Parts: sequence; structure tokens; C-alpha cells
Amino acid sequence: MKLYNTLTRTKDEFKPRFENKVSMYTCGPTVYHYAHIGNLRSYIMEDVLEKYFRYVGYDVTRVMNITDVGHLSSDGDTGDDKMLKGAKREHKTVMEIAKFYTDAFFADCAKLNIKTPEVVEPATSCIDEFIRVISSLIEKGYAYEAGGNIYFDTSKLDKYYVFNDFTEEDLAVGVREGVEEDSNKKNKADFVLWFTKSKFDDQELKWDSPWGVGYPGWHIECSCISMKNLGEYLDIHCGGIDNAFPHHTNEIAQSEAYLGHEWCNYWFHVHHLNTTGGKMSKSKGEFLTVSLLEEKGYNPLVYRFFCLQSHYRKSLVFSYENLDNAAVAYNKLAAKVATLFDNSAVDKAAFVSLKAGFTEAMDNDLNTALAVTAVYDVLKADTTNATKLALIEDFDKVLGIGLVDAAKKLAESNSGAGDDIPEEITKLIEERKEARKAKNFALADEIRDKIAEMGYVITETREGTKVTKK
Ligand code: AMP
Ligand code: ZN
Repeated sequence: MKLYNTLTRTKDEFKPRFENKVSMYTCGPTVYHYAHIGNLRSYIMEDVLEKYFRYVGYDVTRVMNITDVGHLSSDGDTGDDKMLKGAKREHKTVMEIAKFYTDAFFADCAKLNIKTPEVVEPATSCIDEFIRVISSLIEKGYAYEAGGNIYFDTSKLDKYYVFNDFTEEDLAVGVREGVEEDSNKKNKADFVLWFTKSKFDDQELKWDSPWGVGYPGWHIECSCISMKNLGEYLDIHCGGIDNAFPHHTNEIAQSEAYLGHEWCNYWFHVHHLNTTGGKMSKSKGEFLTVSLLEEKGYNPLVYRFFCLQSHYRKSLVFSYENLDNAAVAYNKLAAKVATLFDNSAVDKAAFVSLKAGFTEAMDNDLNTALAVTAVYDVLKADTTNATKLALIEDFDKVLGIGLVDAAKKLAESNSGAGDDIPEEITKLIEERKEARKAKNFALADEIRDKIAEMGYVITETREGTKVTKK
């Protein structure tokens, strides 16, 4: 499997350090507000990557942090703390905000078929770990105290700009854009590991430390949470492309300074989802969330499908017109899949050869757009319906767009369409479905009998529940 690695700037053969075990780290959300669908594009593509690793047989352990402290308005350690801003906006405590938006994030993920990582760790539960690593960095001469804060000294490294794209000049541009320079820093690129002083509002959450009462910087969180849970070698680190600098660059600097050796082999970055007006934002324009899409009548899995139709290393423009096109394509696919339910048998040879089209696409730097084409190829192929269905179910372990479920629902709603089923009966069928879901089979049987008394017969088929007049 080849994956583009931001560190080497090439498509590299992916090889985990220990045989078939993959350690994977993902920068989690800053839980001061709902995630926008741009944030979720990153999590969808990372989910596809994780699922593909599993699909090809790797044993994956994935860790994600929850940033509930230390992420300032600017990624370069300046501005208000995002969490504090959220708390003020909603007249709540920081921890209330963190709890609410962490739950909201995972609810959105569930709707998008994004699996929850094995380990999810909020930054506020790892303060001792941060203090331990920062103390060691000071001891080793990689960090210094100035004006009450602890900074990482980037001049101590042979190479700080590991991703190459960024230079001191880029940083200077940042400064010119109105961000006041922190005069405590020895070098422009130095960053804060521990704050005890900020010229902005005082922090709500603070902890005792050898350097005074304060709170951690954002970058140290990810290094420590990764090392704590995945050890001193990491196979792959993921995030949105905006995180490459300064966040991931700083993570590498401090992790390798602390460990004394190379840390992470592969860096996977998802490019941005933009609006037609430019960068997606939580404060400007329409705040695009999964709930908003649902309110407008979109199935969240259509958004997942929309993301999969483009390569993760290309920026993607969101518009309702584009999403509508994805919805039309998705529904057509579901309708085609709905015609596949029959009693045919799987043709093993055809299965293997059609599966190759899918894995070839995915092995080439996770080309999900071509993997979606492989779904169309299956539907067009000259083989049995059972083979097609089995392949679509198989691909969905990775794609997660739920085509078979959507097809079943479609078949169910179509069943009995010509029979003119009275509303009363349809209602009872719904009630029976709920009863079965809740495993209340006695009630389900009672409802079936009632339906029979009213002159209708229910039969369970592969396509779902069918109702016919007696
Ligand atoms: P945050 O909650 O701001 O820490 O961001 C969560 C994740 O979303 C990070 O991996 C970001 O790099 C990523 N991200 C932010 N904006 C976008 C966007 N417009 N498109 C895709 N990913 C994004
Ligand atoms: Zn991170």
C-alpha cells in the first residue's frame, strides 16, 4: 500500500514498525463549538484510512486527544483560549462546554459512520504527563523559562522545519498580519509548552506546576497523549493540512528532543474543504454542521459519499449544488443495489477479480474516488447479483456509506407500493419494526396478528418486510 507522506514528500510504501501492528494518532477536535463539515472531512478520510488498514489485515490501535485546554485563537500561541471563548459565549464553565461539544462531536461522527478510536483522551486528564515531559525538556536544554512561561527552544534543533514548506519568512508574514510578537521568545519559531502568564483573559482551568500555576500549550498535548498510549514509536500521525505547521512541526520537535530519536514515520494530511467563498469557518458565513445538513433534508452519509468522491490531497469545494449531485448519485446507487436481492450464489472468481479494482485504487494513496468507481464497475459487471451484493458489502467495511442498508430501506418502502396499503396498516408495521428492534417479540407478534385481522399478511424477505392483501 502506498501513501503520500508529508515528511518525505513522496508516495511511500506503508510499512509499520512492528509486523502487522499499526499505531495511529489523530489530532482530535478542540471542543469549544460544533465541528464544521470541513473538520469532519478530515475525520472521514482518517476513518477510511483506519478501516482500510484493518481491511488489509493490520491490527490498528488508534488514539485521539480531545483539546479541552490550551488551544489559543491563533495556532501560533497567541489570542484568547478557544475554550474560554466558548464558555463566555454560552455563559457556561469550560468543563461544561467541553462535555457538551465532545458529546456533540461523537454524535456527528456516529451519523457519518466514523468509528471512535480505541483511546480518546482529553488533555485535562494528562496534566502530570505534560509536566513530566516539559521538565525533561528543560533538563535536556531544549526548553527555557521566560516571562513566567516555558518555551521550546527551536534553535537547539538541527532541523526544525521538517515539512520544508515553511520558513522564518512565513512566520514573519504571520506577525505582519497583526499578531503581536511575543517578546519572551528567543527565536521567532519558539513555542509555549506551559503558560503561567498570558496577556489575554485569565484561564479558568489552571494547575500547579514547578513553574507556577498555569496550563499547557496545545502542541505538547498531542506529543504526550500519543507517547503515553502508543509508546515511543508512532507509525502514522493524521490531521488536517493546516495542522502541519506549526502544530505537527512542533509536535515532532518536542517529541524527538524528548525521546532522543525519530518518532513518527508517516504523516497523513487531509486537505481542506472550502466554501465557494473561501476558507470554511465557524464564525463567518453559514456555520455548516451535520445537523444543519440534516435540517435541510440531507442524509449525513451523502456528505460522506461526497467526500469520498474526491482525493484527500485535493482541496474540495462545498456547495449545495455539489451536495445535491452527490445525493442524486447516492440514491441512484442505492436503487441499483436494491435490485440485487435474489437467491443467486456468489461467484468466488468474479468476487476476487472485481475486488482487485477496489484494492488497487485504495493501495494507490487511498484513491477513494477510484474506489467509488470500482463500486460502479461491480454494478455493471457480468456476474450474479449475489456476487455484486457481497462485493458492495465488502467495500463498505472501508467506505462506510451504507449502500446496502439504504437499498434495504428503499426496497422496504417500495414493497407493497402497488397494493395501496392503508395508513393504519403502515403505522402498525412501523410499530412492529420498533418492537422487533427493541427485541419485544411478544408485542411484534401481537401487532402482526392485529394486521392479519385487518386482512393483511406480513412476510419477511431479504429486502425487508413485505405486506400484501389477503
Ligand atoms: P480543530 O477542532 O480546530 O482542532 O480541528 C480539527 C481538525 O479539523 C484538525 O485536524 C484540522 O486540521 C481539521 N480542519 C480544520 N479546518 C478544516 C477544513 N476546512 N477542511 C478539512 N479539515 C479541516
Ligand atoms: Zn495534535
